[in-house]
Amino acid sequence: MRILKILGEEYQVVYGNSREDRVDFKEGKIYVNSKNTPSGKLIKEALSDYLYTELLGMYEKIKNEKKLEILGDVKFEVKEKIDEKKNRIAKLKHNKITVKLNAISLPQEALKYMMAHEMAHLITKKHNERFWNIVKTIYPKYEIGQDLIEKHENDLKGNITGI
Ligand SMILES: [Zn+2]
Repeated sequence: MRILKILGEEYQVVYGNSREDRVDFKEGKIYVNSKNTPSGKLIKEALSDYLYTELLGMYEKIKNEKKLEILGDVKFEVKEKIDEKKNRIAKLKHNKITVKLNAISLPQEALKYMMAHEMAHLITKKHNERFWNIVKTIYPKYEIGQDLIEKHENDLKGNITGI
C-alpha cells in the first residue's frame, strides 16, 4: 500500500482503470487513473498543482493582510529539485519563488513559515535582524513552522512519490 503525505496528512494511493488520465483527492485517498500517462507522472503533476494552488492562496492572504508592502507581483513555480541541492525547499529569484515538490508533504504551518521566509527575502537577502522582524510580521508564530520543517526533514528528501 502506497502512502503519500499531503499538507501533513497521510493519503492512500488507490489505482483504478479509467478511460482517461485523472487523479482525484477524496477522503484520505488519492485515486489514480492512468490511461496514457504513467501513474507516477500523473501523481507528480497532481501534487504539483495542489502545492501551487496552496502557495498562491497563502500568498494572496498575506498580500491582503497588508503587513508587508509588496512591489510588483510574486510568481510561483513548483519543481522536483532546486539547484541540485537536496535540502533546499524554496528559493527566491527575481520575484519568483521556486518551491520543491516535496514541500507538499509539509503541514500548513510549515508552508506558511517557508512563504514568510521567502517573502522576507523580497526585502532583504540576508538573514539579519531586519529579516527576522519581517518574517515575524508576516507570521508571528513562525517558530512553529520552523520546528515542523525540521521534523519533516526526511519527507523533504528524495523522490516524493517513490515511483
Ligand atoms: Zn533565507
